Amino acid sequence: LEDNVAKLDTHLARFRDTGILNRIGGVDVAGAGGTFHTISPVDKSVICDVAHGTAADIDKAAHAAHDAFAAWRDMPATERRKILIRIAEGIEARAEEIALCECWDTGQAYKFMSKAALRGAENFRYFADQVVQARDGQHLKSPTLMNITTRVPIGPVGIITPWNTPFMLSTWKIAPALAAGCTVVHKPAEASPVTARLLVEIAEEAGLPPGVLNTVNGFGEEAGKALCEHPKIKAIAFVGESRTGSMITKQGADTLKRNHLELGGKNPVIVFDDADLERALDAVIFMIYSINGERCTSSSRLLVQDTIRETFEAKLVERVNNIRVGHPLDPATEIGPLVSEEHFNKVTGYFDIARQDGATIAAGGETVGDTGYFVRPTLFTGADNSMRIAQEEIFGPVLTSIPFSSEDEALQIANDSPYGLTGYVWTNDLTRALRFTDRLEAGMIWVNSENVRHLPTPFGGVKASGIGRDGGDWSFEFYMEQKHIGFAT
Ligand code: NAD
Repeated sequence: LEDNVAKLDTHLARFRDTGILNRIGGVDVAGAGGTFHTISPVDKSVICDVAHGTAADIDKAAHAAHDAFAAWRDMPATERRKILIRIAEGIEARAEEIALCECWDTGQAYKFMSKAALRGAENFRYFADQVVQARDGQHLKSPTLMNITTRVPIGPVGIITPWNTPFMLSTWKIAPALAAGCTVVHKPAEASPVTARLLVEIAEEAGLPPGVLNTVNGFGEEAGKALCEHPKIKAIAFVGESRTGSMITKQGADTLKRNHLELGGKNPVIVFDDADLERALDAVIFMIYSINGERCTSSSRLLVQDTIRETFEAKLVERVNNIRVGHPLDPATEIGPLVSEEHFNKVTGYFDIARQDGATIAAGGETVGDTGYFVRPTLFTGADNSMRIAQEEIFGPVLTSIPFSSEDEALQIANDSPYGLTGYVWTNDLTRALRFTDRLEAGMIWVNSENVRHLPTPFGGVKASGIGRDGGDWSFEFYMEQKHIGFAT
């Protein structure tokens, strides 16, 4: 721990003097709205000043992205590929710094963030390898025409990201946008601006031309809104809450924005009594209590068959009580503090809501100390699916357990949610798994597995969990336009 704290101190020293500035057209720019503070949830201390970007900064950045677009689009694909690979290498070289800063800025544990930083590099490597064929089209001959299709990048795009695993999630959007040939204005979450700054530095050091990636810090209702409304920005890739997704759509209506929305979830993990229960237990624990439960794909509703409920919940309680809450830079810590005071108040508010609704707090349900925003990992039992703890996204290390007796009942409960991001099914009955997954309303489902991201597969949700898919060629469908050209024969 001491070692990590000392290293972090060195990495942050430069921000203490200069703060975090916006980066527009390859130049550092102060925010037109002055500055705001970014606070560490570990001890509520100010990390540094951050440029408070406004509509004026967004306008500058949108023009910079517009001006840089033609040259980036027309750069030979092999050259663009090399730059993206160098960005991946730059991330790998600074992975420790990224992870330490991310932990301090967001409260997430080093144990998980050290891997998340490297996943950011993987995102760049994967999309670098797609650059060369991204524009390939088809030949669709008709009796009188040679019809060809090609794909072209849509233009400058806006990318708006949340505070949970912010570095990894930003690369997940920025890498395919750059690979497609788009230029980018990135508006990171106000609660976690540090690693977005590291990313733009790494990208420019790797040879990304000025203006291809611009970073404007600021608040959603101001800088984020201006980005959605800007006429030079052709599309918005957004990751965040469902109600913000709806605002993004409204704000982009006048300029006919194309929107990609990756939103919230209240994802069910369904455990049938014929499953490998030890493996299911590991996965249930991992999918809600790792990354502070601040993860869109977390399995926050446990649907457990009544025949095994008692034993399964008893084992869960034992495991949950052994999860280590602590300083996020301690490599042994599994749960760090929640990201902010506002989020801490939201999550802890559900402890009372659970009691009022008549559920039992079988583990946790308490805060830890008062130096930072720490909570104990929490398990609610005796719940039914109509309770707020079963319907609302809590977005913390909080699991709601709901019993079911039959497959039909499990399906009805699982689908009784405004959300539809992921689902996890544990059974050794193959026919049931096929039948169940076919009827489960979710964009992504894993059977007998926790969430394992494979980059070529489609990532995204249904219902209030989003519109659009990322991953593989689906990312390019969003960042590019199909063009048809017919030649008379
Ligand atoms: P949020 O919606 O509050 O904020 C996300 C981003 O949107 C921030 O950068 C914020 O400044 C900006 N924003 C806010 N209002 C805006 C507006 N009117 N116009 C433009 N931008 C605006 O979300 P959050 O609290 O930062 O993140 C947590 C949420 O993100 C959870 O709901 C979680 O499920 C979701 N999430 C979804 C996925 C997914 O892939 N589906 C992944 C990660 C997180």
